[in-house]
Amino acid sequence: MGAFGLLLGLSGGFAFSAFLGRSRSLSRQLLLAMRSGELRVVYQPIVRLSDRRRVGAEALLRWTDATGKPVSPDAFISEAERNGMIGQVTRFVISRVLEDLGDGLRRRPDFQVTVNVSADDLMDSGFLPFLSARLQAARLQACSIGLELTERTTANSRELSRAIARVREAGHKVYIDDFGTDYSSLSYLSRLRVDAIKINRTFMQALHDQSDQDTIAPQIVVMAEVLGLTMVVEGIEEEQQAAYFHTLAPDALAQGWLFSKPVEASLLFS
Ligand code: C2E
Ligand code: CA
Ligand code: CA
Repeated sequence: MGAFGLLLGLSGGFAFSAFLGRSRSLSRQLLLAMRSGELRVVYQPIVRLSDRRRVGAEALLRWTDATGKPVSPDAFISEAERNGMIGQVTRFVISRVLEDLGDGLRRRPDFQVTVNVSADDLMDSGFLPFLSARLQAARLQACSIGLELTERTTANSRELSRAIARVREAGHKVYIDDFGTDYSSLSYLSRLRVDAIKINRTFMQALHDQSDQDTIAPQIVVMAEVLGLTMVVEGIEEEQQAAYFHTLAPDALAQGWLFSKPVEASLLFS
């Protein structure tokens, strides 16, 4: 390696270790946050579009740091995925959901709370035993907890599809989250057998802007019907969007600020 290469290598090394230092410290902070009560879970209701009855909710993490500032989940979740900490985060969320909502879910066996999981969670051999044990301790059936899988994963699809089959056999519904955000959506669906898709909220913006994506939504609806998939439309903010999807897919479920922002557990069943 020439002097220039050596220099590049060294500066790259410094940048890399600075990056590692930063992300290690975020991971450490996240661990502390889980223990100190800075992390909590809020719940965004999911309604049936036809009558707007609440049939479920999505569990969403909130982190308010020691100075009272919110930390964006988009930032700390991807960091946790990179650092191998996502398993701990997911288990934290599952435990909290069952603590927060156990009573309500026992009263409403038709109500389903969905938890965001990564492919790594599903492929971890301890994940399903953990989930099943927690549900049993809470005297709840598997159908009370659904699992939302984001498609940004690059996991080996054979291993992932086997993992998905295992959780479905155990009685959990599996959702593909943020469906339609990139070109891999369709190939993902052809490789993985799931129960439902969540249509990303960028489609709502597209409807608003009257752009070309307006023509894609009806095709996704037809595809979901052909494949027998439940459809959840995310990010509905306006009546006009709800009406559009209700005409297009009368059986669809929906989530968005029009119906409710994420709420504390105590307000979910009220
Ligand atoms: P996501 O799973 O797509 O969650 C939906 C996001 O859309 C949430 O943002 C929610 O608050 C927001 N949202 C819901 N309705 C509307 C609406 O009508 N309009 C607009 N503009 N936004 C709406 P949030 O809570 O900031 O979460 C961001 C992302 O962070 C989530 O996206 C998910 O990928 C990740 N995340 C959040 N909590 C968890 C968790 O417990 N585990 C994992 N693995 N990821 C999580
Ligand atoms: Ca989600
Ligand atoms: Ca989503």
